Amino acid sequence: MFKHILRSLAGGPVTESAPPASDAALAELGGRLGAAAQRRLGRSLAIREVDAGSCNGCELELHALSNPLYDLERFGIRFVASPRHADVLLVTGPVTKNMAEALRRSWDATPDPKWLVACGACAVDGGVFAGSYACVGPVEAVLPVDLRIPGCPPRPAEILAGLLALLETSAAPVSGRAG
Ligand code: SF4
Repeated sequence: MFKHILRSLAGGPVTESAPPASDAALAELGGRLGAAAQRRLGRSLAIREVDAGSCNGCELELHALSNPLYDLERFGIRFVASPRHADVLLVTGPVTKNMAEALRRSWDATPDPKWLVACGACAVDGGVFAGSYACVGPVEAVLPVDLRIPGCPPRPAEILAGLLALLETSAAPVSGRAG
């Protein structure tokens, strides 16, 4: 035990250094996303994340959006705890049989106007879980998807770019769409 403690003290941190991120590019991306949300919604963009069966790799990247490096809230983009407060329902993972009904209910509880985003390879097409007996399929097997963000997992900047494309290129967000 003593040997392990000594080795830990002498060895320094074992974590990898943060990935290089261009502050200017990130600030531009986040600023445009915040501005697009203001234009579309007249206020900040609220995102409710639903883990429909993820390995949690996608969640780690989503959490990174709130860390001091990315600090998404400075642009008015925030994650909320309830679909009732959300503009975007962002789904990760393949949809497991046990989560399909919860996902439908979360979508129904999200007020109009709203968007549905499939985030990560598993949500887009089942990814490594495609064909599993425990899965219903990708998100589009359960609900109509507005945006697909590929990657296993997608990087934070890719998630931001996808959300920006959604706000900049889509027509008015879905209103009164059948779930
Ligand atoms: S896309 Fe990759 S990281 Fe995301 S839930 Fe699937 S396996 Fe995990």
